[in-house]
Amino acid sequence: MMKLHDQIDVAVIGAGAAGVAAGRALLARGLSVLVVEGRSRAGGRAFTDNSSAGGWPLDMGCGWLHSANRNPLVSEARTLGLHVDETEPPWRSQRQGESFATGEQESFRAAQAAFYERLEAAALSPQDGAASQHLVQGERWNPLIDAVSTYINGTELDRLSVKDYDAYQDTEINFRVTEGYGALIARLAQGLPVTFNTKAQVIDHSGRLLKLATSAGIIEARAVLVAVSTNIMATGALRFSPALPGKVAAAAHLPLGVADKVFLEVEGAQDLPENARLFGRTDRVDTGAYHYRPFGRPLIEGYFGGACARELEEGGLAAFADFAIEELVTVLGGQWRKRLKPVAASGWARDPFALGSYSHALPGYADQRAVLAAPHDNRIFFAGEATHPHFFSTAHGAWMSGQRAADEICASLNAL
Ligand SMILES: Cc1cc2nc3c(=O)[nH]c(=O)nc-3n(C[C@H](O)[C@H](O)[C@H](O)COP(=O)(O)OP(=O)(O)OC[C@H]3O[C@@H](n4cnc5c(N)ncnc54)[C@H](O)[C@@H]3O)c2cc1C
Repeated sequence: MMKLHDQIDVAVIGAGAAGVAAGRALLARGLSVLVVEGRSRAGGRAFTDNSSAGGWPLDMGCGWLHSANRNPLVSEARTLGLHVDETEPPWRSQRQGESFATGEQESFRAAQAAFYERLEAAALSPQDGAASQHLVQGERWNPLIDAVSTYINGTELDRLSVKDYDAYQDTEINFRVTEGYGALIARLAQGLPVTFNTKAQVIDHSGRLLKLATSAGIIEARAVLVAVSTNIMATGALRFSPALPGKVAAAAHLPLGVADKVFLEVEGAQDLPENARLFGRTDRVDTGAYHYRPFGRPLIEGYFGGACARELEEGGLAAFADFAIEELVTVLGGQWRKRLKPVAASGWARDPFALGSYSHALPGYADQRAVLAAPHDNRIFFAGEATHPHFFSTAHGAWMSGQRAADEICASLNAL
């Protein structure tokens, strides 16, 4: 196989938030770096689609600058002159009139808060377990509590580790980038040496220099940073030679759940409240959460998670839109059917360079984030949202993990 590049200090695999943060930090320290990216664009699961007919920048992956007061990407956005929107998210109150009356909403929120308190208490026990064990049997709000888990964690509660759920930190301050979160990460990647459309296949660490086999040739490097999703590692889409079974097992125990979005254009959108939220159903797990008029745009953004999202992905935009419209007209009334038009939908589980949306630990495996994050032989390093101890499953967690890995690499290569 041909040699792709002269020997470099560091090959970074993946130009998502983690790889971009690492690439920038390594270059700033004077190291020679090449970022290897399988797609034709930077950003990975941060992707703003600007191709809709309405011209709205649609975040198909991450949209919220979570924990905004501790999120370094807020200041990065402002430095680049992007607009940071501080409008509060509409997650705490629903706009659905009689289909989910105020008293019912209060009852649901109390049941949900009590459930989260039980999880917090259970996390103190030495034993880990599935979050679903802490639902009260027969409680009427269980399906909706589980549906919310599919949005937050990408999975139903029976596959979610209590300890991992508890380790997540959320300051409950959430901003957005008007131009798109994906657009922000793409801007931050500008000027980085990236080889696009290049799939990394095998990291050969048998010799003195690391050899990275890619679809475009071999790269020789002193260090390699793996900044791909856990499912890419767990499925063997990227391999190690000799094998690193401990790393692959860690990745497999931190699978990506599924979360997807659909965008519908709304005719006469002014009849809907701006920046409000609605659950499709309150009595089943397979349901969407709908955000009316985000940024005041004439759109509804539907959010689906877990098995529901995975199944809808099979049918693409039409399936997501049909499902969303059925749920919406049940609440809003049949006259709305002709006012809702499909615009775009994501399909992250079927995306070959992601294979899912964000990571969660399986019950019993919360400790695997640290196992995955640890360097191997001080030459192969690991970053990505799944490696962050507290901000996993987010873009800022990915970004911070890339900076952490860059520090480790500099220490190992004796860079300043
Ligand atoms: C629908 C959805 C909504 C979300 N909402 C939010 C949110 O509101 N706020 C938030 O903070 N986070 C959110 N997230 C999560 C956030 O997008 C991710 O946690 C974050 O972007 C992951 O970054 P990363 O660098 O770890 O991985 P990735 O973005 O997956 O980057 C990995 C990169 O590696 C590339 N790659 C993969 N395999 C190979 C290979 N073999 N060779 C070369 N390149 C390869 C990929 O193409 C990709 O560019 C959301 C995600 C989804 C899907």
